[in-house]
Amino acid sequence: MALIVHKYGGTSMGSVERIKNVAQRVAKWHAAGHYMVVVPSAMSGETNRLLGLAKELSPQPDPRELDAIAATGEQVSVGLLAIALKAIGVDAVSYGGWQVPIHTDNAYTKARITSIEDARVRADLAKRKVVIITGFQGIDPEGNVTTLGRGGSDTSAVAVAAALKAEECLIYTDVDGVYTTDPRVVPEARRLEKVTFEEMLEMASLGSKVLQIRSVEFAGKYKVKTRVLSSLTPPDIDLAIEANSGTLVTFEEDETMEQAVISGIAFNRDEAKLTMLKVPDRPGIAYSILGPVAQANIDVDMIIQNASTDGTTDFSFTVHRNEYQRAMEVLNAAKDQMKAAQVLGDPKIAKVSVVGIGMRSHVGIASLMFRTLSEEGINIQMISTSEIKISVVIEDKYMELAVRALHKAFGLDQAA
Ligand code: ADP
Ligand code: ASP
Ligand code: MG
Repeated sequence: MALIVHKYGGTSMGSVERIKNVAQRVAKWHAAGHYMVVVPSAMSGETNRLLGLAKELSPQPDPRELDAIAATGEQVSVGLLAIALKAIGVDAVSYGGWQVPIHTDNAYTKARITSIEDARVRADLAKRKVVIITGFQGIDPEGNVTTLGRGGSDTSAVAVAAALKAEECLIYTDVDGVYTTDPRVVPEARRLEKVTFEEMLEMASLGSKVLQIRSVEFAGKYKVKTRVLSSLTPPDIDLAIEANSGTLVTFEEDETMEQAVISGIAFNRDEAKLTMLKVPDRPGIAYSILGPVAQANIDVDMIIQNASTDGTTDFSFTVHRNEYQRAMEVLNAAKDQMKAAQVLGDPKIAKVSVVGIGMRSHVGIASLMFRTLSEEGINIQMISTSEIKISVVIEDKYMELAVRALHKAFGLDQAA
């Protein structure tokens, strides 16, 4: 008899039929004696539809109102799922984030969870009710509805599991686990039985949207046992089989971990590159360029500065594509004062990363990565590394080719 949290994504909740399947699956776990908390997302496409309506009315809608609108997708889902459960004889109750409450800061559209109260949920669980809580949303200190950023229902689920000290958080989605890379891009991608928390954190932060990065951070901070698995299997499959399927995020590196040096390849087209040409190469130049960018509240990811031969240097960095225009404005405003020759911008870039804890003990990973890209004729524009990842920026039209070539070169399509 354990307290278990299930999370169901948009596709898993995508139709009345699918919601019935979710209800049957939850009912099976409930009937096995578990205390069930379920965190569903909005039905697939719904959040985009809602945000699209707002954008039709204004190019830059008020973020508070955007959150008020976007949060309704999950509000509908919890009600529907409660009705579906009751229809098959399982007592259930739905709550919005504000009713639990799930407290957040007031950073609309990307709020962070600050705390979760558990009294109400525990009282319902004690009565053997299935408690259904909206993903993606919370309430700020002034009582406004907030949302947690796209893909945020993962974070709601893991945070709820942490607050309730759940035995496990099961993230049900439209793939049957975490793969070596997105199986929609590389059909040869393989499912990982286990992935270390550190690798999952890198993969999520580098673009694998299978788990929102903040959910992985929560899992790490509160040591929440988290598993990614399919919601598309028959809902009545054997519970013990289901409970061991998918991919487990582990906190230890044990000998049974797959021995691959590289566990996965992540990629994204979320960034844009900016370059200041021929800035005087003197102490403080990086600060004078990035200072105004930071003041404008724009996060910078990769940075490179070339060696100078004539007393000037080129300085490039990447920002999120949503911030690209603003970053260009900041640099253009600062250009003359910095005595830079020109500001260049390029939003057509992609970042491709290889990730694996095996990198710590193996040499030659970078050279294999660079050789593979050169054999495909792909130019590397920027490089950054950490202990367990190497990322490169390339022209975005080569992204899928690069991912496929690297997946092969690192032997990820062969059975472990
Ligand atoms: P949900 O709606 O259930 O939250 P998402 O669409 O957010 O689902 O995340 C699941 C998707 O993540 C998959 O359909 C897959 O295309 C994508 N994905 C990207 N990288 C990976 C990976 N390494 N392993 C599995 N899925 C991945
Ligand atoms: N419905 C939200 C989104 O589409 C949250 C989620 O699905 O995790 O981003
Ligand atoms: Mg998701």
